[in-house]
Amino acid sequence: MLEMEAERRQMCAMKVFAPDYYAGFRCAAGACRHSCCVGWEIDVDPETLERYRHMSSPLGEKLKRCIAPEPVPHFVLSAEERCPFLTEQNLCEIILLEGEDSLCQICADHPRFRNYWSDRIEMGLGMACEEAARLILTSPHPLRLVPVSEEWEEQPEIPSEEERALRDYRDRLLDAVAETGPAARLREYLIYRHLADALYDGRIAERTRLVDRAFERMTAGWDGQSVPDLAEKARIFSNEVEYDDEKLEQLLTETGGYRTGHDNL
Ligand code: SF4
Repeated sequence: MLEMEAERRQMCAMKVFAPDYYAGFRCAAGACRHSCCVGWEIDVDPETLERYRHMSSPLGEKLKRCIAPEPVPHFVLSAEERCPFLTEQNLCEIILLEGEDSLCQICADHPRFRNYWSDRIEMGLGMACEEAARLILTSPHPLRLVPVSEEWEEQPEIPSEEERALRDYRDRLLDAVAETGPAARLREYLIYRHLADALYDGRIAERTRLVDRAFERMTAGWDGQSVPDLAEKARIFSNEVEYDDEKLEQLLTETGGYRTGHDNL
C-alpha cells in the first residue's frame, strides 16, 4: 500500500490535447466505403493477445485460428485482403460480440495519432480514414486545441529551449494558415501531424518541406471547390504515404526542382 502511494507520488497528470473536432469523430462502420479493415495488416499487441488466449467462447476459438504468430502476431487476411472479423455488412465481429474494449491496440486507436511533448500529449485524427478526412476538411475555423483528458505519466519534464522553440515555430506555421476553407484545414493538418516529430529527429527544415510537398501532392488536380474530392485525394495520399515509413522518408529527403515557401530554412 505504502509502495503504491510512493509510486503514485512520482506520477503526474499529463494533459492530453486534441483539435476541437476530435470529439465528434465516429467510425462510419458499415457505411464506410474504404474500411481500414481491408488491405491493412493488423498486428495484435501482446496484452490483447494474452486476453484473446484466455477466451473460451466460439469467438475466442476463431481468434486463436485467425492470428498468425510470425513475424509478429497479426490477423490473417482473407484472399480479398479483408480482416477475418469483418462481416459481410462491414461490421467488426469482435465489437459485435465482445464490445469495443475487446479490440487490440491498433484497432482501438485507428485513425488516431499521438504526438508526445515533454509536458503534454497532442492527439489527432489521421486522414487515411474517410470520416476523419471529412471532419478535418469541414471544420469551420482554424485549428483549436482543447484539453480532452489527462493521463498518468511519470513526472513530466520541463521542455528544453529547443523544444519550446520548435513548438513556437509550429504554432507560427499554424497561425499563418488562419484562413477558412478546406485547403487551409488540410495544410493545418499536415503541420500538426508532422512537425512535432522534429522533436525526435531534429529535421525541422525537412519536415516543413514535407508539409509543402504533401500539400502539393494532395491538392494536385483538385478543382479548389469540392470537399469530397479533396477528402478522397487526401485519404489516398495519407493511406499510401503517411502510414508507410519508407515512402514518408522518401518525401522527407526528396530533392530536386521543388521549391518551398520556406526557403529561408
Ligand atoms: S476508415 Fe475510418 S470510418 Fe472507415 S472503418 Fe476505418 S475508422 Fe471507421
